[in-house]
Amino acid sequence: MAITREHVLQALSTVPVDASGTDLVASGRLSDVVVDDAGRVMFSITIEPSEASGMERVRQAAVTAVQGLPAVKGVFASLTADRPAGSGPTTPSSGGAPGRIRSAAQPKNQRIPGVTHVIAVASGKGGVGKSTTACNLALGLKTLGLKVGLLDADIYGPSMPKLLGIHGKPRLLENRILEPMEAYGIKVMSIGFLVEEEAAMIWRGPMVMSAITQMLREVAWGDLDVLVVDMPPGTGDAQLTMAQATPLAGAVIVSTPQDLALIDARRGVSMFKRVEIPILGIVENMATFICPHCGHSSHIFGHGGARDEAARLGVPFLGEVPLDMTIRELSDAGRPVVVADPEGPHAGIYRSMAQQVWTSLSGGTVVRPAPRIVIE
Ligand code: ADP
Repeated sequence: MAITREHVLQALSTVPVDASGTDLVASGRLSDVVVDDAGRVMFSITIEPSEASGMERVRQAAVTAVQGLPAVKGVFASLTADRPAGSGPTTPSSGGAPGRIRSAAQPKNQRIPGVTHVIAVASGKGGVGKSTTACNLALGLKTLGLKVGLLDADIYGPSMPKLLGIHGKPRLLENRILEPMEAYGIKVMSIGFLVEEEAAMIWRGPMVMSAITQMLREVAWGDLDVLVVDMPPGTGDAQLTMAQATPLAGAVIVSTPQDLALIDARRGVSMFKRVEIPILGIVENMATFICPHCGHSSHIFGHGGARDEAARLGVPFLGEVPLDMTIRELSDAGRPVVVADPEGPHAGIYRSMAQQVWTSLSGGTVVRPAPRIVIE
């Protein structure tokens, strides 16, 4: 029998939230409950920031109650506070107030055990090649001999399963920890592995934050030198909250050469600067068009804008990637260009980007793949 919202609400109504025995459903603290086709259940519990530690027990009891239902395959539950501890009462959104929604369960910037650096790949708007860049940058870091993870936090448009040709679902290990999927030697987690795209589309801010926080912290990432996070596009509240909730070592901003995209990129840069996250650099994607027939290159959208903009903003310019059919075709086929054509020019560009990013992160420590031992 399939699990329904009503079953979940019934289970949650057995969970007391306080000494007087008020149950979770009656307490008015419960968000929407979402149940997807695969039997995964998602909800959040609203708390005052000061209640975080006490209410964690209630969250755990709620998870246990729902997990006990037949046909439940997984439970995503979080505590969410509408305002950070110590701030005044919540005011209606002014369209950009930082920190309005924050997962109170995890203190801000808590490190992920075993993960040395977390970096974000962001863009001011969608469709500029952010995910393509994140994926190839992660693989470029891998070719430097690093241990790399890739978290697809683009909740509303997860693309890593397709870009990396990964099928199937991650295994649930003990204590609700998910085992990341693997492709081309990197560990990968995406909401696309867990729920149908339509399910995530209806999530509101706290649910999105909850899912991202869980993908950061309730995944067996193991030891990683770098975890690359493909951020949701844009520079609104959600991104700002995400940037604050994640212990980011730096951010890479992807832009196309058009002026409009550059304005968006500028917003991206200033957003990260506002929360004091270093900008590792700007990437200009779709810089020149390479004709698939004759190989001629044309600057359809103008050229060099991102390099100039990076200089103006005083941030590194990491390189330019041409608009090339091969990149799209290989991406669509689940074979990113860095692994499908490692000797080609595009792979070289992404590897150079990766090297610059790693130099910034590590302060210049050069890591090389272990030498191959050849027995003659
Ligand atoms: P975003 O994450 O910014 O929404 P994607 O990485 O999903 O963007 O890219 C959008 C589309 O553009 C995809 O079809 C992708 O294959 C294609 N694309 C991205 N970069 C390039 C490029 N340099 N050359 C050709 N196609 C590209």
